[in-house]
Amino acid sequence: MTNALLDIQHLDVAADQLRHRRSNLEQRAALEQALAEQRAEQTRIDEVAAARVDVANRQRRLESEAQIVSSKADADEAKLYGGEVAGLRDLEALQHEIATLRERQSGFEDQVLEAMEESEELSTLLAELGDASDGTGRRVSVLEAEIGVVEAEIETELEQLATDRAIKVAEVDDALLAEYERLRPAFGAATAVLFDRSKCLGCPSIMPAMEVDRLKHLDGTDPASCSECGRIVLR
Ligand SMILES: [Zn+2]
Repeated sequence: MTNALLDIQHLDVAADQLRHRRSNLEQRAALEQALAEQRAEQTRIDEVAAARVDVANRQRRLESEAQIVSSKADADEAKLYGGEVAGLRDLEALQHEIATLRERQSGFEDQVLEAMEESEELSTLLAELGDASDGTGRRVSVLEAEIGVVEAEIETELEQLATDRAIKVAEVDDALLAEYERLRPAFGAATAVLFDRSKCLGCPSIMPAMEVDRLKHLDGTDPASCSECGRIVLR
């Protein structure tokens, strides 16, 4: 019976260690970090994709501006070569307008090329960011799988400990077990301790001679309570 309580304590300590290990898995911290990276990468991808849409809209606007000015210049040229305009001054004015329109057209076309280059750079950047995000995603999957495996192992071990504990519990007096459960939050792994005939092994201070004497001379072998530290003393 004495040994059964120590066995239970041993099993409880082992279960505590497993639960502590489960809530402090290093993969868990790595996973949190990878998920944070993934969120940051997605934010960046969204920003760049939005910028690329802006550039595409700008390019379309510039293309349409260039088209409008080009059409006007074409019409003026038709007028110029169609012989509709006779006066020298009017001809000069028309030629000047055509030159101005062609200049504006070429200005718009230059800006269209700039927008196309910018769009290409953003596409390259998006592809790079996508690759990085895919890499992070794979890291997340690997870590999640690893955590799943370790957690399943721990769960199996905890179930085994619970089974072993249930067997031992049947061997221990209900009142003693209740006392052990009550004291365990305070004393943890050293709630029930052995009395080695001269002192309580759990006592943080030397057990007074009177207490040693009292425990030595208690009748029978029932567990006692150390009056010094309050632990369950197994004799
Ligand atoms: Zn003690």
